[in-house]
Amino acid sequence: VGSEMCIRDSLYDDQNIFAKILRSEIPNETVLETEFALAFNDIAPQAPVHVLVIPKGPYVCYDHLLSEGSSEEILGFNNAILQVIQKLELSPMDGNSGYRIISNAGVYGVQDVPHLHMHILSGRSLGRMIEKD
Ligand code: AMP
Repeated sequence: VGSEMCIRDSLYDDQNIFAKILRSEIPNETVLETEFALAFNDIAPQAPVHVLVIPKGPYVCYDHLLSEGSSEEILGFNNAILQVIQKLELSPMDGNSGYRIISNAGVYGVQDVPHLHMHILSGRSLGRMIEKD
């Protein structure tokens, strides 16, 4: 039983581009790094602020981290998001103009890179949340 491969384990492709960034095989514009997460600028920004926050662990999407990650990893990932929001002075709680967080998952979410990432977007009004049909 112990040697049985969980289908969730086989979901993670360690050749994805963010895995390569975590291994320093390709460069990134780091915003901040913690024990549990890396935040860097999106290579094709869709707003004046477009930061991606990724966990260091091999998680495909947010529910993967939430279901399989340790409490430390889950807290560490969310804490890195908080640190980015604070560092870039985005929080409406501090009188700033706010931001949007998006995490695409799977086919309907139109996820391109199969390593969990939160998009943090700001710097202008971002319009309505999703396109109308
Ligand atoms: P998603 O469609 O949610 O999977 O988003 C993937 C994001 O990764 C896109 O916004 C891309 O512009 C971004 N991206 C792809 N390659 C890189 C890279 N090497 N460095 C930074 N961002 C990247």
